[in-house]
Amino acid sequence: MHTLVCVKQVPDTTEIKMNPKTNTLDRSSASTIINPYDAHAVEEAVKIRNKFGGKVSIISMGPLQAEEVIKKCIEMGADEGYLLSDRAFAGSDTLATSYILSMGIKKISKKDPIDLVFCGKQAIDGDTAQVGPGIASRLGIPQLTYVEKIESLNLKNNTVVIHRKIDNGYEIVESKLPCLITVEKDINDLSFSSLSNMIKAARYKSTVWGINDFEADIGQLGLKGSPTSVRRIFPPTQRSGGELLKGNIDEVVKQLTDSLKGGIVRWQL
Ligand SMILES: Cc1cc2nc3c(=O)[nH]c(=O)nc-3n(C[C@H](O)[C@H](O)[C@H](O)COP(=O)(O)OP(=O)(O)OC[C@H]3O[C@@H](n4cnc5c(N)ncnc54)[C@H](O)[C@@H]3O)c2cc1C
Repeated sequence: MHTLVCVKQVPDTTEIKMNPKTNTLDRSSASTIINPYDAHAVEEAVKIRNKFGGKVSIISMGPLQAEEVIKKCIEMGADEGYLLSDRAFAGSDTLATSYILSMGIKKISKKDPIDLVFCGKQAIDGDTAQVGPGIASRLGIPQLTYVEKIESLNLKNNTVVIHRKIDNGYEIVESKLPCLITVEKDINDLSFSSLSNMIKAARYKSTVWGINDFEADIGQLGLKGSPTSVRRIFPPTQRSGGELLKGNIDEVVKQLTDSLKGGIVRWQL
């Protein structure tokens, strides 16, 4: 069973700041982390490998420093990692990103066929949730999105049964393998890494591939291959604090009803 996980390095958004002058993300203010949804995808892939055998491969597209997230995945129990890094990939939108990642996945699959591809539900910086479905359609395999549980894997029939989150509950879907699954955080709890995996990760060197490692269509990657353009980025307007009503219960109720009536009068005007 060969499972591959797409992992993105993202800014730690609990720390990120906006530059009020340029209205862009101040990336220098944030440290980077593994996209949290992707960490759960790695955990699930490692669980599957431990139960059924085989291996877990990691793929990431980004600058050379993205090798850190691959090391993090090795620490979590993954077996090998591939980093797709080249200046030609810079400026890629989700369409181009899914093209580049699918080229990498095809190359890995030629050497060692892949049964299951995992992605996170979404990346916490871009937030589009488009890359997973984009990869699946480029690979021509089924996509199972918003997955919160893998109910069963049947390697004889080559099928997987999953629970997929929907508005009022979940639906149970069966798919043929290979397929692509995007995961919710509820799918598992993250475990602690073992000391031996930590040592392996510290010494691990990822395979790095650039544009010359593929027969790529230059028109489909980087800025050229990106039909999306960001027109404007702006922080949400700051909300003012609410009004605090003081006094005993009768006074508070009166203040509240007066203020609601005032609101209605203003609304009617
Ligand atoms: C016009 C435009 C220009 C852009 N220019 C740049 C740029 O110059 N530099 C830049 O860094 N970004 C750039 N971006 C952002 C970049 O397109 C997105 O970061 C990227 O396509 C992923 O989209 P997302 O973050 O919405 O991921 P989502 O679709 O929300 O991610 C879903 C899942 O896909 C997988 N995934 C997503 N991205 C990667 C990745 N890189 N490697 C491995 N797995 C991944 C992960 O499993 C992730 O959980 C640009 C975006 C646009 C629209």
